[in-house]
Amino acid sequence: MGFLTGKRALIVGVATDRSIAWGIAQAMRREGASLALSYANDRFKERVEPLAQSVEALTLPLDVSRDADIAAAFDFIRQQWGSLDILVHAVAFAPGEALTGSFVENTSREAFQVAHDISSYSLTALSRGAAPLMAGRAGAILTLTYLGAVRSLPNYNVMGLAKASLEANVRFLAADLGPRGIRVNGVSAGPIKTLAAAGIGGFRKMLARMAAVAPLRRNVTLEDVGNAAAFLCSDLAAGITGEITYVDAGFSTVGMSFPEDEAS
Ligand code: NAD
Repeated sequence: MGFLTGKRALIVGVATDRSIAWGIAQAMRREGASLALSYANDRFKERVEPLAQSVEALTLPLDVSRDADIAAAFDFIRQQWGSLDILVHAVAFAPGEALTGSFVENTSREAFQVAHDISSYSLTALSRGAAPLMAGRAGAILTLTYLGAVRSLPNYNVMGLAKASLEANVRFLAADLGPRGIRVNGVSAGPIKTLAAAGIGGFRKMLARMAAVAPLRRNVTLEDVGNAAAFLCSDLAAGITGEITYVDAGFSTVGMSFPEDEAS
């Protein structure tokens, strides 16, 4: 029997079969959870429906920038399931021009607002919708973050600020919802080639650098992140909340490291 047997999970952020949210969906399904997958708009509906079928998941539309969509999504979950155990938030967006080159020159007021709204505020809004459905259950909320929240990195720019906000969001939500028995955590994943990642300037170089110098000398996979996420949302992690867990082959723990061919 899987360690999520009997749990119901709403997963927000599947766009393709390379999405981190899809890795999480597969791991959660394997461990026995029932799933609902949302898609951001009609363009993604066609891609998400067949994936959802393969894991027997419900599907629903949800653009996190719209309050009406958020309300409708949780009404749908209430009608279908009556309650919710797990919410996965794997959503981020910033305008492309803000994710390349000079941080100071390319961060407009609008890009700042959009990045923070879609990538951080949406966690607060979704948690507000999910909490009543988690009443009396061991609820778990999980988001996806990146090292750019706590370190500067080339091109990540305004998204680093949004992820810093997101990580603070995790701590404030954990404090607020903890007394109701709801845990809130983040996974800080190493770089993985996804649709969102393709929008970040120089992403291929990041992948190569990571594989060359991370302690495990490799990039992380959807399975690595999916398994950690499934654990954090399970009762096996009942004592863990307000935490950011790094699933990055150890990259963030190293002060300096030389690739093998430059080691001596
Ligand atoms: P992805 O493109 O597969 O997923 C991003 C998702 O955000 C998509 O499903 C997209 O539809 C959704 N989204 C964007 N705007 C939305 C909106 N207004 N309403 C609803 N959904 C919206 O890419 P991914 O890399 O799997 O990203 C998932 C999360 O993982 C993001 O928070 C990202 O920052 C984070 N992350 C990614 C990496 C990486 O290297 N890929 C590393 C660390 C963290």
